[in-house]
Amino acid sequence: MIRSKLIAGNWKMNKDIHETVTLVNEIKERVKSLETSPAEASVDIVICPPFISLVVAAGLIKGTQIKLAAQNMYYQNDGAYTGETSARMLKAVGCEYVILGHSERRQYFEETNELINLKIKQALSNKLTPIICVGETLEERVSGVTDQIITTQVKGVLSGLTMQEIEKIVIAYEPVWAIGTGKTATTDQANQVHKLIRKLVSQLYSWAIAEKLIIQYGGSVNAQNAFELLSQSDIDGALVGGACLKSDSFTSIIGSAIEAMKK
Ligand code: PEP
Repeated sequence: MIRSKLIAGNWKMNKDIHETVTLVNEIKERVKSLETSPAEASVDIVICPPFISLVVAAGLIKGTQIKLAAQNMYYQNDGAYTGETSARMLKAVGCEYVILGHSERRQYFEETNELINLKIKQALSNKLTPIICVGETLEERVSGVTDQIITTQVKGVLSGLTMQEIEKIVIAYEPVWAIGTGKTATTDQANQVHKLIRKLVSQLYSWAIAEKLIIQYGGSVNAQNAFELLSQSDIDGALVGGACLKSDSFTSIIGSAIEAMKK
């Protein structure tokens, strides 16, 4: 089955409002010339600027094929949660996606699978597509427990999701040791974990659902390695960190997804 490819740029805590305007305008200009529906399915493009730039970014991408995501959210919709932002608020400014459970959130902000699960449910009930991150650390990979870690994370974050809900999620496999390090998982290493995730979802739900699930790879994806990664059978896109901060490398990765789609 042909799945769409989803290329999302996670800006993390980079780019102030002025730099946001410049980068979004550059991406817009470069994306215009790309044919993003080369096959039966398409290449979807998402940018994830910091919260404070979402409103401005939403205005700039209006009428284009670029979609908007936030990098995090809280699991309640309103209330006395100083400093937090809710799914309802993200939806209201035009977000269609939200990254949840990124390894930096797990590492620096102690997010657990249980908390991420609550956030996923809230995102879905506000019609936001969660991009749910899972991935093992270097220590875990070296000690041979990658499959167990991924299984625990996938089961934990998806706990209690209905058949209808599961059709509206995206999973991003991001080996923690490959994030921001310049080390990429080999195409085989990545594809194997993607296959495991698909198998888990088929066991928890159904093969028909698993087959449609978009599973992105993330971890030092760049203009040089994107085509090979995106050409793998079970890699349906990329969650891009460092390389999305420059319009040329980000659009080159989108171009690689288009090429991979034509294969
Ligand atoms: C990320 O943070 O999701 C990521 C994959 O970062 P990088 O591409 O910089 O490794």
